[in-house]
Amino acid sequence: MTIATELPASDPSSTSARTAAAGPGLDAGAEPITMLNPDFPFSYDLYLAHPDGLGSVPPELLGTEIAVIGGGLSGLVTAYELMKLGLRPVVYEADRIGGRLRTASFPAAPEVVADLGGMRFPVSGKAFYHYVNLMGLETEEFPNPLSPATSSTVIELAGRKYYAEKPADLPPFFREVADAWKAAINDGAAFTEMQQAIRTRDTARIKDLWNDLLPQMDEQTFYGFIAASDAFRKAGFAHREAFGQVGFGTGGWDTDFPNSILEILRVVYTDADDQHRLIRGGAQKLPEELWKHAPSGMAHWPEGTSLASLHSGSPRGAVDKISRDPDGKLRVLERWGREASYPAVVTTCQSWLLSTRIHTDEALFPAELWTAIERSHYMQSSKTFVMVDRPFWKDINPDTGNELLSMTLTDRLNRATYLLDNGPDQPAVILLSYTWNDDALKWLALDADERVELMLHSLMLIYPVVDIACHIVGQPITVSWEADPIFMGAFKANLPGHYRYQQR
Ligand SMILES: Cc1cc2nc3c(=O)[nH]c(=O)nc-3n(C[C@H](O)[C@H](O)[C@H](O)COP(=O)(O)OP(=O)(O)OC[C@H]3O[C@@H](n4cnc5c(N)ncnc54)[C@H](O)[C@@H]3O)c2cc1C
Repeated sequence: MTIATELPASDPSSTSARTAAAGPGLDAGAEPITMLNPDFPFSYDLYLAHPDGLGSVPPELLGTEIAVIGGGLSGLVTAYELMKLGLRPVVYEADRIGGRLRTASFPAAPEVVADLGGMRFPVSGKAFYHYVNLMGLETEEFPNPLSPATSSTVIELAGRKYYAEKPADLPPFFREVADAWKAAINDGAAFTEMQQAIRTRDTARIKDLWNDLLPQMDEQTFYGFIAASDAFRKAGFAHREAFGQVGFGTGGWDTDFPNSILEILRVVYTDADDQHRLIRGGAQKLPEELWKHAPSGMAHWPEGTSLASLHSGSPRGAVDKISRDPDGKLRVLERWGREASYPAVVTTCQSWLLSTRIHTDEALFPAELWTAIERSHYMQSSKTFVMVDRPFWKDINPDTGNELLSMTLTDRLNRATYLLDNGPDQPAVILLSYTWNDDALKWLALDADERVELMLHSLMLIYPVVDIACHIVGQPITVSWEADPIFMGAFKANLPGHYRYQQR
């Protein structure tokens, strides 16, 4: 939800107004927030847009094979750019192109899709949109809580229900919570100064601010940070609790409370939790299109060459072992026995798979780096989707004058319910529940039907007059990323004290 950072949509200086004028990933006005993550404040968007490209390879090395382990977005961007430079990427993929940008179809209506991993992408991610635009993909605003694309939002906490079509419809308490968060990050984490430095791409200033914050912030959990802030201390526990449930940007963040506050600061400094768009047809389209795309003007490779054509249509299989040959090259062994050696290997799978799923020669990394790999902390995450016959939630309840069902944030098991419309009278999708960490683990032992039953039960308590179940068609789709052996978790989020591991 954009309570904390929201500007009215009609404000022509707002990011959303500028983006609407220029298209996603492009800015009509000057100085937008970009993904200048304070750890790596490199302007990848400008490098990608540079007429000279990303660099060049000495002529004698053109055509050299480089292994890229993982066919998710990182692996495919790596392989795509290596191919453009005139090298020969060899992509290894254990399952399917896309990785955590995984889009599932509902079998009864295959054009109706659900994004099981990444689903909403901030416009500050300029390098991401460089590829989205290059592949000609269509995007639209994601229906986050209280965003302009969301016709109504319900916040239900401790059995009390608040219906809002815009942030101003909520009681003043929620504004106080948002103001407390704004004050906490301004007073405790130089938020305004950091965003100003990001806008002006002043990397020296970004690093100065970040380096000052690191020693104290690396010791602090997200919860410790807000509890210690003047703003939340004065406001009291109810505000902290509601902040955990409703949060900022996309919704509740309390399952993140044990993580390092540094993780949260990276998100808010770079507007990563704001101005989200989805990819029409599903996020997996992006890696799939990169796989098929034939860029023009490549070094070494003839026109029409694509990653797919370099691989005769499919990537290599799952990697089982990585070791070093006596001549210094890296040897990659596949699950079913094929071996090859390379001067360089790029791994893009979750890093702790290097010890748990791939036999990685211990000598390849110093002990300190192995410690860092082992200590990586991954969040759990679960999503459950159902297809419904039509976007019935837009029907008006004659008794209240409100929409029947709204984007919902609740402290019940579901936590967040999103409504994904495919047009009037078209089958639509409800993301019944999207959860992280402890909340995701509560679903882990249940199968898809059991999950849906419990989720519908929660929604029935919030919307007693709405029969959601009678609109469901086909089978539900559910995922728990921590249960998938190729991922073993959803995304990395460091705990306090872990910054040293990240630096390694
Ligand atoms: C539930 C969820 C929600 C998310 N929401 C968002 C969002 O809304 N917005 C956003 O920007 N990001 C989101 N993310 C994060 C985003 O999806 C990831 O950052 C991104 O997809 C990671 O891409 P990657 O290529 O780095 O890694 P991955 O996609 O994990 O790719 C790694 C690849 O390595 C492969 N692999 C693993 N082991 C082997 C092996 N032994 N041999 C060969 N291949 C192997 C895997 O199959 C996989 O394809 C979300 C992630 C999840 C899980």
